[in-house]
Amino acid sequence: MTTISQRAQAIPISAVRQLALYESEAKQKNIQILHLNIGAPDLDVSSTFFDAIKNVSTHQLQYAPSAGLAELIEQVQLYYQKLGASFQKKNIFVTNGGSEALLYAFIATCEKGDHLLAPEPLYSNYVSLAKVAEVEIDAIPTYIEEGFHLPSKDQIILQITSKTKAILLSNPSNPTGVVYSVEEVRLIAEVAQEYNLWIIADEVYREYIYDGFQTKSFSLVPEVAQQTIIIDSISKRFSACGARVGFLLTQNDALASIFLRLCQSRLSAPTLEQVGATALYREDMDYITRSIPEFKARRDLMCQLLKEIPGVTLRKPEGAFYIMVELPVENSFEFAKWLLTEFSINNKTVMLTPGEGFYRTPKRGIKEVRIAYVLNEERIREAVSIIAKGLECYHPSTKN
Ligand SMILES: *Cc1c(COP(=O)(O)O)cnc(C)c1O
Repeated sequence: MTTISQRAQAIPISAVRQLALYESEAKQKNIQILHLNIGAPDLDVSSTFFDAIKNVSTHQLQYAPSAGLAELIEQVQLYYQKLGASFQKKNIFVTNGGSEALLYAFIATCEKGDHLLAPEPLYSNYVSLAKVAEVEIDAIPTYIEEGFHLPSKDQIILQITSKTKAILLSNPSNPTGVVYSVEEVRLIAEVAQEYNLWIIADEVYREYIYDGFQTKSFSLVPEVAQQTIIIDSISKRFSACGARVGFLLTQNDALASIFLRLCQSRLSAPTLEQVGATALYREDMDYITRSIPEFKARRDLMCQLLKEIPGVTLRKPEGAFYIMVELPVENSFEFAKWLLTEFSINNKTVMLTPGEGFYRTPKRGIKEVRIAYVLNEERIREAVSIIAKGLECYHPSTKN
């Protein structure tokens, strides 16, 4: 008999997927769903991207070089130079989204059974990708009351074992929106140095920081340059999730030669989208400065409206476009399900992401949800009023 591998079966079903069933139920009843669960921004991609692709004259579609199109690598090198970091071209790789970059980072730094250390709540795909690479993730617990900032050095060190190979973190963070301060970045660098750990710095939200909050890219910490891997992507920077263009960068030449082999094993990242991405970096870096005020306004409105709901706990996050919110319910999954299956106002309801799936530690996050403020202001108002009314009407104890 054929069997499915344990490795594949260990990949968790995301909480969002679990709710998908109830989502289609709602749609069948013609209920419109306001999606606060999705991490994909609703902004248009700059026309620069599409124009560049339209201007491609050849009708052949060849593989791009495994490491990426030379023009794109050059633009990325320039982008990092402006940031203050100098990467050699041979140390920059174009990947199929930041997701593939993460997988390659895990594979290159960990043996099967080794561990990564990451602040929780964490991006749930870290767990799925780690399962593919057969590595475990241990959590550095962080808390809503502290705005999900890092604990003390002692608390972090406590989680390190002989199996720990890397510290993995997203800054700004999905799902919490926390931006780590310059001191927190230094703290992680210090721990990585003392314990000989890699740093896998997922900085796909790099520019999405509000109110001038100060942080530092790990690409600008010279003390750990040889042990740092930068994960980057155009998905969030240019609202171009579907392009599947990400980046993997390192100053470590030995590691870079391994990354090249990994890239060669899948031949190429998408050729046309790399042409589009090149144009974005070359011609439309303003896109970022144009979208930041929009997201800042959405964050401010979302936080203000949520705070008016009795029993809701949150701290205003410094970046990205997510907020983890604690709701006055026993179980946020049940509440999210109830919103989809039993509640609507004027035939509209809201889809939330239950918090539990972002935690490694059992029982944490049960009352929390992640809210992505990727809707325009009018829809944000509508969505939050549905949540508020929903919380008033929700009485799970009488329902079972
Ligand atoms: C969206 C996201 C990514 C990468 O997504 P890609 O579309 O594969 O580039 C990586 N890390 C985090 C934290 C994300 O939210």
